[in-house]
Amino acid sequence: MDNRIYNFSAGPATMPVEVLKEAQEDMLSYKGSGMNVMEMSHRSKTYDNIIKTAEQDVRKLLNIGDDYAVLFLQGGATLQFSMVPLNLMQGKADYIVTGSWSKKAVKEAKRVGEVNIAGTTAEENFSRLPKQEELKLDSEASYVHYTSNNTIFGTQYHTEPEVGNVPLICDASSDILHKPLNITKYGMIYAGAQKNLGPSGCVLAIMKKDLLERSSDDLHTYLNYKIHADGDSLYNTPPTYAIYLMGLVFKHLLNLGGLEKMYEINKAKAAILYDYVDSSDGYYKGTVTNKDDRSLMNVTFTSPNADLDKKLIAEAGEKGFSGLKGHRSVGGLRASIYNAFPTKGVEDLVQFMDEFKKNN
Ligand SMILES: *Cc1c(COP(=O)(O)O)cnc(C)c1O
Repeated sequence: MDNRIYNFSAGPATMPVEVLKEAQEDMLSYKGSGMNVMEMSHRSKTYDNIIKTAEQDVRKLLNIGDDYAVLFLQGGATLQFSMVPLNLMQGKADYIVTGSWSKKAVKEAKRVGEVNIAGTTAEENFSRLPKQEELKLDSEASYVHYTSNNTIFGTQYHTEPEVGNVPLICDASSDILHKPLNITKYGMIYAGAQKNLGPSGCVLAIMKKDLLERSSDDLHTYLNYKIHADGDSLYNTPPTYAIYLMGLVFKHLLNLGGLEKMYEINKAKAAILYDYVDSSDGYYKGTVTNKDDRSLMNVTFTSPNADLDKKLIAEAGEKGFSGLKGHRSVGGLRASIYNAFPTKGVEDLVQFMDEFKKNN
């Protein structure tokens, strides 16, 4: 394992080493079955146990009640931008637009019905989140959709927007399982797996069962949540190997002490980097204008100028810190430090950044 580098990629992102090792052990024969999980029928008893255990474990982690369905879907978070309105929109819906991903969600929702932009900070290049009092919510909206963590802009909701009795729908692709949640606040949460859950190819969706009644029989079968719920995510061949790996990640989190523990680690880990940036006498600057909105998952910052950003990224790359280039719409640097990213990697990055500051 000595050849592993610090991978700050925004997604697909670094996986827990323990999980990769376990998958390696299972590579040729999964628990005496004589085959790899990816070679196994999704209708087999062994696989049924894998997917059921994964579901049970994520239910345990997030304390998900029986009134919620847990679905493993395909098509990335991106297909949810369409499936959410196709299944759940009845005329109109509210969208809070806090970055590129919410904008994409709006684009698809507009094909289905009337979209009310309930709040946005687009004019400030999404450098903060709209405050509760800035939201213009419609109490008759089918739902309110928002993005809990803005992967590109480095902002994150630390408490859910308050939306009254309207179902709250959250794209949590880049921060799900980073802390405990009160699931009862949500109508639905969905997340592409490749940031905090496992490999790409699978989406975890948690949905209040009464919302399933909204899915019309006229929908294309595969786009219908009710079909996936009734089939226990086995309507057709699911992304079997991705679900297996997600299951290993869930077990890993439970063994670690659950999401309370994960949250503590994440807060301490992000603080190392933010504290350093804030104490660098203005050499490094966080790009998020409201510090309360800073993300624990994607830390966005700049060095004194774009040339030094480039130089830093190149030198960091040589030293084994990969994936630090900020998204082109923000520029600067971005350190994605999801659940699986080791604290030691952040400590070493800070040390490197300090040396870079002295030399430049
Ligand atoms: C990465 C990301 C997406 C897109 O996910 P895909 O699985 O590539 O479709 C959507 N929303 C957020 C918040 C993301 O971080």
